[in-house]
Amino acid sequence: MLSRRGLLIILSSPSGAGKSTLARRLRAWDPNIVFSVSATTRAARPNEVDGADYHFVTEDAFKTLVADGDMLEHAHVFGNFYGSPRKPVQQAIDAGQDVLFDIDWQGAQQIQNSVLGQHTLSIFLLPPSIIELRNRLEKRGQDSADTIARRMQKSWDEISHWGGYDHVLVNDDLDATEAQLKTIIEATRLRRLQQPSLNDHVRTLQTQFQELS
Ligand code: ADP
Ligand code: 5GP
Repeated sequence: MLSRRGLLIILSSPSGAGKSTLARRLRAWDPNIVFSVSATTRAARPNEVDGADYHFVTEDAFKTLVADGDMLEHAHVFGNFYGSPRKPVQQAIDAGQDVLFDIDWQGAQQIQNSVLGQHTLSIFLLPPSIIELRNRLEKRGQDSADTIARRMQKSWDEISHWGGYDHVLVNDDLDATEAQLKTIIEATRLRRLQQPSLNDHVRTLQTQFQELS
């Protein structure tokens, strides 16, 4: 078995299009996919667990993390700060695990432009329609009417960046989108750059050729 280098899998979409649901399914599918737990200054929702869904931090603590260079990327979204801690990401990909990010387009761009950019796989999820997007935000039942309205207003901002992603999927049927995501991940894991041990293998093949002649 050839060893591989982990991927940074970025999932973005307008709020409510299905990122968290699909991220949960991908992690259940393959324990080698670990979730990047972001830090945020927003308040926890009733069902959210500190340290598992997010690291809920104060604005001062967030600014210190950024100033100390501990964030791989960070952005201001819907009036709150969000960012991805750098260290767990580096540790996971060094161990050959893939890291899944549920982040907005600003974070996606920063990671793609970072030193880890060549190991990213970015996927954007579109809703089947705007009415369905609103239905999903309402169905989730975790945000106030005001928050939902604000998120709907912002959804075009996010959608307008769809062209910056490697893959774009319309999340209509959940099972079909899940299957498409798995196909994309499996193919990307076979990219040459993700398989550093191929160099040794090709060198061995070369030696074998020389021994034959
Ligand atoms: P996001 O993380 O992008 O904000 P969620 O994963 O929380 O979105 O999904 C919002 C709501 O829509 C949830 O109630 C989820 O169960 C539902 N949902 C997600 N994908 C689909 C789909 N393909 N069809 C129907 N409902 C969906
Ligand atoms: P929510 O408040 O619904 O959990 O997330 C709001 C938005 O912030 C979503 O678009 C989500 O992808 C984005 N987000 C969550 N964590 C991060 C992060 O660490 N960095 C960036 N750039 N965006 C994030």
